[in-house]
Formats: sequence, structure tokens, C-alpha cells
Amino acid sequence: MNFPDDPRIADAKDIPVHELLHKLEIYGLTEKGGEMQGPCPECGDAGHNPATGPCDRFNVNIASKQWFCRKCKIAGGDQIELVREVKGCSFPEALEFLCGEKPLNVDPEVARKKRKKAEARARAEAARKNKWRQQSIDDARSIVARAGPGSRGIVGAYLRARGLSLDVIPAPLGYLLKHPYVVKRGGQNVTMHIGPCMIAPIVDWRTGLVMAVHQTWVDINPPHGKATIIYNGVTEKSKLTRGSVRGNFIPLITPADADTMVVAEGIENTLAAYLPKPPGFENAAYWAGVSLGNMAGKMLKSEKRGQLSGLPDMSAEEAFVPPPWVKRLVFIKDGDSDPVSTQKQLECGLLRARTARPGLRTGIVPAPAGFDMCDVLNGKHKQKHQERQANE
Ligand SMILES: [Zn+2]
Repeated sequence: MNFPDDPRIADAKDIPVHELLHKLEIYGLTEKGGEMQGPCPECGDAGHNPATGPCDRFNVNIASKQWFCRKCKIAGGDQIELVREVKGCSFPEALEFLCGEKPLNVDPEVARKKRKKAEARARAEAARKNKWRQQSIDDARSIVARAGPGSRGIVGAYLRARGLSLDVIPAPLGYLLKHPYVVKRGGQNVTMHIGPCMIAPIVDWRTGLVMAVHQTWVDINPPHGKATIIYNGVTEKSKLTRGSVRGNFIPLITPADADTMVVAEGIENTLAAYLPKPPGFENAAYWAGVSLGNMAGKMLKSEKRGQLSGLPDMSAEEAFVPPPWVKRLVFIKDGDSDPVSTQKQLECGLLRARTARPGLRTGIVPAPAGFDMCDVLNGKHKQKHQERQANE
């Protein structure tokens, strides 16, 4: 429920971050690189290791007013949303908390000026976001363009180290030798590692354009598994994406006469599904969906808080829909993530695809519970199963 004519909305969005935090009695945040950082108003500093430095999981951007917690994932775009989250209250209640009761008689001229100001601010914010988005897409394209062919370099060795012995390396995969691992920390770009990296383009199939890049840093030492990246005592993930991922996939293998598409989250799991060349899938395309959220696309909100509806929001523009040549779409379900929410997300993506492409056949193929496809291929599945039986 929105109240666009209420002049207090513009007033609320004028409240500086420092004042907002004071009103909400959120203390202990420090300013760094244009953001206020510190313990989270929701999850505090639970589970924080002080050896890694002060807790900085909760961030509020002083300029954009956007806020989020890296740990418990609360996030929002403005002052009113932060009040709603912290106080667990409704939109009108949050407005009243910030700006007092609704004035009975508002001078229409004052209201008009305030609305104009709010619109100008929204336009400036949209322009800022757009510029940032285009910059990250340009960066992604430049990385993909610079990469050498995956038939050379460390790509084959890395995939073998993950149990994937391919006769031919999929053409879209490439590599860079001295590729910097750059992450934004406290508003600053920090280079945490430089080394060999597998490069995969994330493509919008409608236009064929690279919209983002998927980067996997590889250990320079044999057997060339994932690189270990440790910064300030914290182990960072060895994979990063850059650019506009939403709605776009990594087209690893696409035979000319394909009518079936198999999709798993990661590059490794997608190739693990391809390698056994299961009967009935001889001419299938194998694309990686990058993340479960990206395979699902935007979901309608569930009526129950904290639960997933599993229903696609068909109005979302940036969500994956398979190309028209796909007659059968199969999602691989990783066994190593939460089974209920994983199922809901996969169902959401497949229902979107069926709605957009009537007549499309879809299915979910599960990897055994507790294992991802690479484990299965490497025989870890059997091994762990035997260990478990031996322990019983
Ligand atoms: Zn939190």
C-alpha cells in the first residue's frame, strides 16, 4: 500500500542517515567510504570472529540510503524501509514514527514542490545506478574479450581437478593468467589476489551479447583446483561475477540441432551432468544458470513471511526464459543446498518457462541428497555412503 500524495514521504526521504540511526537507536556504526558500517540491528554481531576486525556486516549508504546486512540478508532502499524492518511495523506506522502524524491540511503548492524534489532525487539515483551498471557490463565484456581460448591454459587442468575430464573444452570458456581478484570493501576496491582464472561469458541469448562474466580463480599449483583466497584471515570464495547477471545464463554447450536444455547452477555441475551423455540427451544443450536465484527469477511474495511462494513474477523483465528452440527444459537440483527452498526456486523458474513457452516440457533431476553432481562423478557419493554405513 502506497500513499503517494502524503508529503511526509518526501520529508522522510530527506532525513540524513545519522539522524535516522539515532532515531532508531542503532549505535556502534562507523563511517567508512561513504557508508555507515557496524553490527546489524537484526542479528547484531552474532557469530562474528573478532580476530577478523570489527563487525561491519550491516551497511547504510549515506548518499543512496540503501542498506543491507551481509549476514542475515535484510536489505532495503530507503529510510522508511529501515524503520519497517527494525520496528516490524507497517508503512503508515513507519511514516508516523519518522515524521509525526499526517497533517490535516497540506498547502497543495508545498506538496507539489516536495513531490518535484522527490522526483528529481529519484531520477538522479536512477542515473547513478544506470551508470554503475553500464560500467560493470563494460568491464565484463573487456574481461571476456581479453581471455585466451580455454583449449589452452589452465581450464582443462582445473576441470580435471574437479573430476571433469572433457575431450573438448567448451568453446565459451577462456582463461586469463594474471587476473586480479578485486572486491569492494568499505567503499574501496581491494585487490585480494592475482592469478590464473577461468573466464566464462554470461550471455543474453536474445541479443547474443555478453552481459556479465563468471570468474573462477584457479590454484597455480597442481592439481590446479580452486584457488585459496584469504584476506585478513577470512577465506573468500574463489568465484566472482561482474556485470548484469539477472536473466542471463552461461551457454556452455549448444549443439546446432538441440531441442533439449539442461541447466545446473554452476559450470562444474552443468558439465558433470553432460559428461555421462545420458540416453535421450545426446543433442541437449548444457547451460549454467549461475545461481539458484537466477534460475528462479523474481518470485511473487508469499503470504507467509519467511516462506517462498514458488510462483514466478511474470512482470519481471530481467528473468530467464528459454530460447524458442527449447522443447524440453531440465533443471538439475543440487543435493547440497536446502532441499525445500531449492525445490521452490527451481519450480518457479520452470513455471515461468512453461508460461512463456506453452507446450514446453520441464523436469527436475535431483542429485543425491547431500551431494552435488561433481561429488557424484568423483565417486565421493559412494565413498561417503560407505563411510556412513560403516559408522552405523
Ligand atoms: Zn543482520
